[in-house]
Amino acid sequence: MIPPDKIEEVRLANDIVGVVQEYVALKRRGQNHWGLCPFHQENTPSFSVHPGKGIYRCFGCGKGGNVFSFLMEVEKLTFMEAVKALAERAHIDLPVYSKREGDAPSEVEQIVEANQTARDFFHTQLLSTPTPGARHALEYLTGRGFTNEMIQAYMIGYAPEGWEGLAERARNSRIPLDVFVKAGLLKIGQQAGRPYDVFRDRVMFPIRNLAGRVIAFGGRRMSEPEPGEPSAKYINSPETAAYTKGRELYGLWEARNEIRRHDRVILVEGYTDAISLASSGIRTVCASLGTALTEQQARLLLRFTPNVFILYDGDEPGLNAAKRAAEVMLSCGAQPRIVEVPGDEDPDSFVRAHGPDEVWALVNGARGLVEFQTDRGKRSNLPVAQIARELIASAALIPSSIDREAFLQEVSGKTGLSLDALIAEMTQIRRPQNLRETRRRKSVWPPVGAARDVIEALLSSPEIQQEFMPKLQIDLIKDELLRTLAAAMISMFESRGEAAPEILATEFVTSPVSDFLASPYNDVLESLQDRDLSDSDRVSRDRRRAASGLVAMQLEVANFELDAVQQMLRQQELSAERITELFRQYHDVKKRIELLTKEKNPNTP
Ligand SMILES: [Zn+2]
Repeated sequence: MIPPDKIEEVRLANDIVGVVQEYVALKRRGQNHWGLCPFHQENTPSFSVHPGKGIYRCFGCGKGGNVFSFLMEVEKLTFMEAVKALAERAHIDLPVYSKREGDAPSEVEQIVEANQTARDFFHTQLLSTPTPGARHALEYLTGRGFTNEMIQAYMIGYAPEGWEGLAERARNSRIPLDVFVKAGLLKIGQQAGRPYDVFRDRVMFPIRNLAGRVIAFGGRRMSEPEPGEPSAKYINSPETAAYTKGRELYGLWEARNEIRRHDRVILVEGYTDAISLASSGIRTVCASLGTALTEQQARLLLRFTPNVFILYDGDEPGLNAAKRAAEVMLSCGAQPRIVEVPGDEDPDSFVRAHGPDEVWALVNGARGLVEFQTDRGKRSNLPVAQIARELIASAALIPSSIDREAFLQEVSGKTGLSLDALIAEMTQIRRPQNLRETRRRKSVWPPVGAARDVIEALLSSPEIQQEFMPKLQIDLIKDELLRTLAAAMISMFESRGEAAPEILATEFVTSPVSDFLASPYNDVLESLQDRDLSDSDRVSRDRRRAASGLVAMQLEVANFELDAVQQMLRQQELSAERITELFRQYHDVKKRIELLTKEKNPNTP
């Protein structure tokens, strides 16, 4: 077990804005930083981070918490893994802790460890093993203009010929062999039952997620396949617990800071395109990993910048793929630009032949989908109506009606067709509104009521806590989870003099309490309606809420007692003594309710 103080030290050492920025670009507005939520799909930001408190909250899906819950959720880590990752990030040494059952690494963590072992093995093979195969691979890479710096930065490696290179390394590691099999790096031979390498004589490109962890590989074949052996030019790791196809972008981790800094990205198709461009000095680049761009990839990229330049191959299939990628971007509410490589060249060969300045010239001449498609159509002598119909189909994907109309206006300008005609045509084909659930988490917890009000007010500031925490009676709270939270607040208040939501969030990291703890600081109503409230206005508002909430809690209980007494009075065969006793109770409770009601509404006579 890591002591709580150490965990709190790790939390404090990791600025939440910095950690979240690794996954989402944030813009400051008021007290909070805002960005697109990484936990649900959206086109306008509803995810906010409160830097002072170290807490985040999304008012779209309701998720909230501190830096630990953020990393757990976004990386699918256990609590311990999140603490370890953040300790590493902040260069804090954690005490060696004894392994308990709950601390066993998750499958994701195991696969990542196997992948990282393999990555180191492949990288060493490429750079420091003087075999003919490795030399050939290195010649191939340098021949493509890959600089040594980029080979290091992207940790490119070489999987040797032969069948047991990695298998041997795996046997000597402390990771069980079956984890390497699960990761798709080894297979077990049918006959001998011995493990053998899946990737052989291939240049290896590690695919990293946004935490910089290796979740998969792409391998490019170096030699021609032996007769009878099916061998694709590129093979990728299979899907595993750590890797889902179509969800990651190659090179995004390596380029993320540059992309954010320059607020733009060049999207290419393949590994080699990305690394060629990066080697030439164009660093704001990432690749869709050889498959058609998915909506998830588009949204991932848009979390970093809205300015996407699609740079695919210059041949017909490449241009078609670029059009489809642009449509995916449009459907996510973005306005992508398409960069056309002249002739049949691809970005890799183009940058090698012409250098980075020529690439920038192409990027500066990038066009939106309307211009790109009308130019293409005119080049192929397509009838105007056909060009327009295709563009109308693209327009139908755009979620915002204003953007849709602006897009059609451009089509109208380019084709000479009237906007009315274009709109009429689109109304016919426009798909029924996307019915996909926005996955709004219903705020089922905590239940609405006086207890919730009081807790919320208490969480809002230490001043309120000083005044009202001693008056909080937890046995009056009916909801069990809320009562647990209240008890934790009281105990922290007694030991530290303050119940800090950002620290409590660690204690409740896997519970809905975490979402709730973040709400007083990151609530959208708070930021919209109360933006102009001064701090003292805010405190007096919360003081009123706490005071009236505490009274209301007692009222709730008193009313409950009154009901009980009335029910008992309705019973038959009560002794005269018992009736007198019950009446006395009845009047006592009545009196209490009267006093409490007066306390709650002091202005009514
Ligand atoms: Zn969300």
